[in-house]
Amino acid sequence: MKIYLEANDIYHAVGNYYSEKINEGHKIFANEQISLISINENNEGLLFEFKAELQDFVGNVFIRFDESGMLEGYKCDCRQFSIKRCACNHIVGALYFILHMLQQQADKARREKEINNLLTSFEKDALAEIKSEIQNIQIVLTPYFCVIEELAGVSLTIGRIDSKKHYVVKNIRDFILAVHSNGTINYGKNFSHTHSKSDFSENQKKLFELIEKEMENYSDYHNILNYNFTYLRNFPVLKELIFSKNGLDDFFDLFCNKTINAKIEQNNKAELTLVSEEMPDIKFKAKKTSDGILISEIKKPDYMFMGFRWAYIIQNNRLIRVPLEYANLILKLYETAKSGEILFPEADLGRIATFFLPKLRQYGLIDEISLPEQFRENELEKTIYADSHDGAIFIKLIFKYGQNEIIALDKTPLNFVRNIIEEYRITSFIKQIGFFESEEK
Ligand SMILES: [Zn+2]
Repeated sequence: MKIYLEANDIYHAVGNYYSEKINEGHKIFANEQISLISINENNEGLLFEFKAELQDFVGNVFIRFDESGMLEGYKCDCRQFSIKRCACNHIVGALYFILHMLQQQADKARREKEINNLLTSFEKDALAEIKSEIQNIQIVLTPYFCVIEELAGVSLTIGRIDSKKHYVVKNIRDFILAVHSNGTINYGKNFSHTHSKSDFSENQKKLFELIEKEMENYSDYHNILNYNFTYLRNFPVLKELIFSKNGLDDFFDLFCNKTINAKIEQNNKAELTLVSEEMPDIKFKAKKTSDGILISEIKKPDYMFMGFRWAYIIQNNRLIRVPLEYANLILKLYETAKSGEILFPEADLGRIATFFLPKLRQYGLIDEISLPEQFRENELEKTIYADSHDGAIFIKLIFKYGQNEIIALDKTPLNFVRNIIEEYRITSFIKQIGFFESEEK
């Protein structure tokens, strides 16, 4: 049963707002000189029984509430009450006791309600999250890496997460717009889907965003989004998107080290593994002829795509990421090569050895074994001979490559590989510290 008691009821019981009894009574409560013995409830109401224990009085105090919970009456064993029949200090103390008890109950109820609200809101959020993560993800988007007339692009299939049957996204433009406008697309006899952004898991979202970004390369896209959806049908159907340079890099990043479906020109059932830690198996052969040096077997890979940061080569079911410089080197050679060969004349051998072969070597593009001995890579050995003469110091700097020995600064073209850059560094240093070139060698 619920009872009602306010501070005003206490003032009313005492009959005077400023009565000394209010203070004295409150002290009795605050000093814990009154304690609750029992609460008895029946049809007629509720009876509190207290025990007061003061220096000048020990006895019982009764407070009564009627069946509607209102303060009905009180009684104290003390002399004051037996004479005046009005609320004494002890009764005021008991009333404060009850008031305090009711406030605590109300506080507790309020706290419980607040805690419950808090938990409910957490529960709601958590459930909403789970729902969007699990329950709403009903479809799977699968990318196909496409090669169309030697250009790299992407097409998509879509299907229910619990079904093996997936359908080609016949128009990527329609698909993107449907996702944005919660549109429904009929993909096949047994599959139509009302799209929503919450369709996608985190990874799928990245793919979708990439496709969407690539779509922006098609100039009409913004016009459709911003002006009029109804013109949609007038735009060409986009079953494949050709990658921009950045798009190709991003796509590779997204699927690096994974194997994905591919359509390479007419071959619909190819697969490609995207690899970044290896180089393609491309090696040119070299041969010394009477006219000079012949670099042969120069061919372009069947499929080579330039990205913005990287280039990509398809070889043996692998899409291999290579440095742009590597791809450019192959392209340059290929463009110069007549029927897959380049003959570098005798007069250029020094330059080839110095500037050209090291670059091919860096990328493993030259078949080292096919190289004539003198073009193979040799360690540079440096020797300095010093002598003093007439108060001056003379030094002689000798560079040695295997059996071949040359004096520094000798500019005669030589038919073996020199590390000109290192040689140049050393001679510059010698000059910097105060030596100068002598006329006599
Ligand atoms: Zn009393």
